[in-house]
Amino acid sequence: MEISKHDTDGPAVNRGIDAATISFSEEPALAASGGSHRFALRVTCSVTRFVEFHRSGQDPVVLLRRCTGVVARGSATTFPVDDLSALQSDTACRGALRGMLEQLPQLRSLWLAEDEWDAVVPADIVPQIVRVARGDDAKDGFTFCFAMKVHRRIIYGEQALLMACKERELDLRAAKTDDCAICLNGLEGEPAVELPTCEHAFHRRCISTWFSKATTCPMCRGDVRLRGLLKFLNL
Ligand SMILES: [Zn+2]
Ligand SMILES: [Zn+2]
Repeated sequence: MEISKHDTDGPAVNRGIDAATISFSEEPALAASGGSHRFALRVTCSVTRFVEFHRSGQDPVVLLRRCTGVVARGSATTFPVDDLSALQSDTACRGALRGMLEQLPQLRSLWLAEDEWDAVVPADIVPQIVRVARGDDAKDGFTFCFAMKVHRRIIYGEQALLMACKERELDLRAAKTDDCAICLNGLEGEPAVELPTCEHAFHRRCISTWFSKATTCPMCRGDVRLRGLLKFLNL
């Protein structure tokens, strides 16, 4: 999974998805598909959603991973295949498989981007299907059964902490004479934020730099990372 470099101003939200085949078997046509089609694919797909929180920097370190949901464990969907040639080459098979997976509600609910749909087709499944579809026994019909597991990750960088911080009200900024404890200048001059829960306020720019080295409030030493994250996720 690629984690793209994020810009320093934004919340640094990246997405990642990987899919793996966990089992596969080849069965006679009618036994498994239960219909008049000689060729079918039967897929069981479970989706697990994770949220990951990464430390900013060159080598992303996972600070926290939290599972936010498992959907559709165990139910199988059968897709009939009218034309065997759709499964006899890598390109055709990959396209057919992707089209089938796009119909699964548990995957549709992830609102995947175009390139993510490609990643959802497990890497090893295509050659196995092609091999069966090209085999001498294929003409008698088959149902190719496989179970797959999809991991969906939403990845936040450390800068996401700032999203959990409230923008300081303009009038509050004007009324108060607080200084930013990091640069010791007044808060009124530039955008300032309040940290979640402790509500200590700093310049957005100053606390942003601070967060690249520490995850605690500069004033009260409270852990902003976990509190900020939970607030950010509405947990
Ligand atoms: Zn400051
Ligand atoms: Zn504080």
